[in-house]
Amino acid sequence: MTMDTIFYNGHINALDDDDCIYEAVGVSHGRISALGMGSDLKTLIGPKTEVLDLQGAVMFPGFMEAHNHLSIFAYLLDGIDLSAQKARKIDDVLTFVKAESEKTPAGTWIKGSRYAEYFLAENRHPTRYDLDPVSPDNPVVLFHTSFHACVLNSRALEMFSIARESKSPQGGIIEKGPDSEPTGVLHDQAMMDVLNKLFSSDIAGMSDSELSTFCYRATQHFASLGFVFAADALVVPQTLKMYQAAQNAGRLPIRIYTMNYAPTADALTGAQIRTGFGSNKLRIGPIKIFADGGMSNRTAAVETPYLTPPYGKGLKIQSQEELIEKVKWYNALGYQIATHAQGDAGIRDTLDAYEAVLGARSNNPLRHRIEHGGCLYPDLLSRAVAMNIPVAVQPVFFSELGDGFIEAFGPETADRLYPFKSMLAAGIKLGGSSDCPVSELDPRKGLCGAVIRSTPSGKILGPTERLTMDEALRMYTQGSAYLSFDEGRNGTIELGKRADFTVMAADPRRVDLVEVPDIPFTMTIVGGEIVWSA
Ligand SMILES: [Zn+2]
Repeated sequence: MTMDTIFYNGHINALDDDDCIYEAVGVSHGRISALGMGSDLKTLIGPKTEVLDLQGAVMFPGFMEAHNHLSIFAYLLDGIDLSAQKARKIDDVLTFVKAESEKTPAGTWIKGSRYAEYFLAENRHPTRYDLDPVSPDNPVVLFHTSFHACVLNSRALEMFSIARESKSPQGGIIEKGPDSEPTGVLHDQAMMDVLNKLFSSDIAGMSDSELSTFCYRATQHFASLGFVFAADALVVPQTLKMYQAAQNAGRLPIRIYTMNYAPTADALTGAQIRTGFGSNKLRIGPIKIFADGGMSNRTAAVETPYLTPPYGKGLKIQSQEELIEKVKWYNALGYQIATHAQGDAGIRDTLDAYEAVLGARSNNPLRHRIEHGGCLYPDLLSRAVAMNIPVAVQPVFFSELGDGFIEAFGPETADRLYPFKSMLAAGIKLGGSSDCPVSELDPRKGLCGAVIRSTPSGKILGPTERLTMDEALRMYTQGSAYLSFDEGRNGTIELGKRADFTVMAADPRRVDLVEVPDIPFTMTIVGGEIVWSA
């Protein structure tokens, strides 16, 4: 048998149980069909074999992004970037909005994202009263970096009919001032309603070719950072339309696993289109449920009140009974369930719901999972272990949000957040991810986050919970693969598995940690095809 493609002269790290190292890999029909050293694979070269010299580069199993918001990332690519590097005070935010409104036709939406009140000198959200003077003719929406809050100007509030008499939806807050008028700031479900309506109406207006271009820009960005796979953690019907348009146009370079937002999943469940349905490139994943709010805007549901304003215990998106009912429903329909749970109260509710369908000990056949799991304290952790609940984690949070965690929880509790080492040691499967655009997508920063656990100001959170670089790499490969039932075809470089590879100029395990974020990606290969190269 001859190969379709042979990659040779590389440092090929299988990241399998035996830690095998190879120098050449042969691909046929998109699968790994030969592995060897030196010129071992020479005899497999036929007239049509493409032979590629890796020039000593380092190859890993393709990195898998277990939890992100690829479609929202695509949606905001053209929006204003208000991240900490760009906006340090509310005036900076207003300057960006003003500049944008001056070049935007009246009535057209202005979108921005990644601001956070704790990165702004005033330590508060901008409000409609700040935004109105600089955007008199355009509706404006600015998303908080957590994507658990946003702020609208008055025109936008009007378009969503949010006014004095509006009541906060279940699991959300329409913030109001002393005069009972909405300030423009919306939290959780109130924000989610705005995001979903805006996103869906924009997507609905696009042609298939516009959709595939829209999607391609974002997936190419993922591929350029070594990702061969992304689990989109908030998929509504319009998102499926976008991915399908991209797939049909042959413009879906990486594999997509959809996490289908429960409130809009009735069409799927009605048709009994369950987890696993789809193609090699585009697959229906779990039903996505929210147990609580976000960690950095302090709406994650906690049992001990936050130390920072508004000093509450966060927000449950629904009562514990309602959550249990939802989990029972989707479990009975045969879906994997992915529940966003950050605070200890949110995680407890989630585990109670999972226990209601799995029992206290289970191998968890549908792989119900926890998204984030920030406050997975020891008692919760042991319950998650007993039910074999995998967790999608975001180690990049430390370097972006870590100082806020210390303020909100106090230094001792902050040390106990995201206990990666304890989770791994107890046998919990961890999927590596970024929650992009909540945090930066770059897996090199995620790897460092897991290994260093440093906050922006240089404090180390929970030094005993640090992973080794090898463990961190396995989290982004084998670990993530488990969360989407892909461990039989992805996650390691072994015969018969998919030829999905990430190629870097150096091995993050073999260079100084400070150099890891600068190691260039050189190639991303999906099903034996080079989908991105430097
Ligand atoms: Zn998320």
